[in-house]
Amino acid sequence: MTELSQQTSGINGIESSVAIFGGTFDPVHNGHLRSAIEIKEALGVDELRLMPSHRPPLRGEPGAESRQRLAMVSAAIRDEFGIRVDDRELLRDGPSYTVDTLRDLRAELGAAVSLTVVMGSDAYNKLHRWQDWRSLFGLANVLLLHRADYPLAADSSVNEFVSARRVLSARALTAMSAGGFFELGLIQLPISATDIRQRLASGRSIRYLVPDVVADYIAEHGLYT
Ligand code: ATP
Repeated sequence: MTELSQQTSGINGIESSVAIFGGTFDPVHNGHLRSAIEIKEALGVDELRLMPSHRPPLRGEPGAESRQRLAMVSAAIRDEFGIRVDDRELLRDGPSYTVDTLRDLRAELGAAVSLTVVMGSDAYNKLHRWQDWRSLFGLANVLLLHRADYPLAADSSVNEFVSARRVLSARALTAMSAGGFFELGLIQLPISATDIRQRLASGRSIRYLVPDVVADYIAEHGLYT
């Protein structure tokens, strides 16, 4: 048992804690990775999983193949303790609805694991359009990540729904199996995958925006040119 799981075990019958940070990661960049570390520290979870999505329902086809995005994420987090990649959405055929992923995870982890799904304000602003979005809260906690470039503008149905579910700290989520909501402000690195793809398409450097291992992979495979 890790030090962190010793801290969380026993609270409300919770045995361990997992958080999911999903995205297209096309490609994964230092904005994602810095956030991953801060999310893990803020929640105090045993494990944070980066989960690349296969076919995002609300956006177009990604610029790199699924296996290439997976390879870049895996390489980027290789040395990070407590952060791993979860490829279940890439293995599933069809659209990656978060609610299906959470049902799958909950069935696998059982009720005694605190499960938290992390979403940026860009995703949160569209939450009312997600498949069966209210059911997410029966399966997991939700951690909202503020992004300076996407001011909060959630639908009133979402604001109303989460108001009764707010907890006082990120750590409080880790003591609950599901159903809690917290808004987290992080260091903001104004990096986006769209900007990285544009730089590559126009032959500019992406050094220090992504880990060297990701920049090397992109160069070796001639991606996004
Ligand atoms: P794109 O530019 O292609 O839309 P992106 O850079 O926004 O991509 P995604 O893969 O869509 O990256 O994002 C995955 C998750 O990471 C989302 O929850 C998103 O809000 C968050 N995220 C993306 N960029 C940052 C950043 N610079 N800082 C913090 N969180 C980020």
